[in-house]
Amino acid sequence: MEKGQMLYEGKGKKLFHTDYEDTLIAEFKDDLTAFNAAKKSSEAGKGVLNNLISTELFELVEKNGIKTHFVKKLNDTDMLVKKVDIIAIEVIIRNVATGSLTKRLGIENGKKLPFALVEFCYKNDDFDDPVINDEHALIMELADTQEELDTLKVLARKVNQILLPFFDERGLRLIDFKLEFGKDKDGNILLSDEISPDSCRFWDKETNEKLDKDRFRQDLGGVKVAYQEVLNRILGNK
Ligand code: C5P
Repeated sequence: MEKGQMLYEGKGKKLFHTDYEDTLIAEFKDDLTAFNAAKKSSEAGKGVLNNLISTELFELVEKNGIKTHFVKKLNDTDMLVKKVDIIAIEVIIRNVATGSLTKRLGIENGKKLPFALVEFCYKNDDFDDPVINDEHALIMELADTQEELDTLKVLARKVNQILLPFFDERGLRLIDFKLEFGKDKDGNILLSDEISPDSCRFWDKETNEKLDKDRFRQDLGGVKVAYQEVLNRILGNK
């Protein structure tokens, strides 16, 4: 599959056209950004790890009945994906309070939530991806109907139900994560973007050590070692 013109460059990936109208190539970058790109760096080899991790996790959720944009892994950094129109809503799923939830509402850091909390954020860097409710999403026409918003929540909870036991068996706590969805040309809602330590928080079950982008956000060091550890856990127990 030949890489055509670049369509879009995001913080963690570049998207390229292919010879086919309905597929794109996603290239995972080594760049690291946090706090809406106020903090930037790069970690050689991170793109390769995120491509591998996302490939494994897209295949896992597909196997369990979730439709995704993932087609196949092409090489170290690239995957072939179906072309979708991204819905401008970041769907955040939280099992444990930390990060912006703790900052926003004062819920104790590390508190296990009584049920998975699903939040919507408006995907727009100019406004720092603010939390929104269903009514905002409808008024702003980020989704067409309430039913569509409900579908996003149901899908997000299903993905959580697939990933939670998968990581638990591998000694990792899935603390929270962000999903993005898109619509293909037939209007099907597909899980898109990536599922990686850039977009998820993983804590080691025994030590509570952070094995995700918080190592960069909080200057803990060992970013690549942590991402490699997540990949090893995923592959180790297949
Ligand atoms: O920062 P916050 O606590 O809201 O993040 C919740 C989860 O969503 C974390 O796993 C974080 O990595 C992810 N996230 C993301 N992209 C954003 C915002 C949050 O991947 N723009």
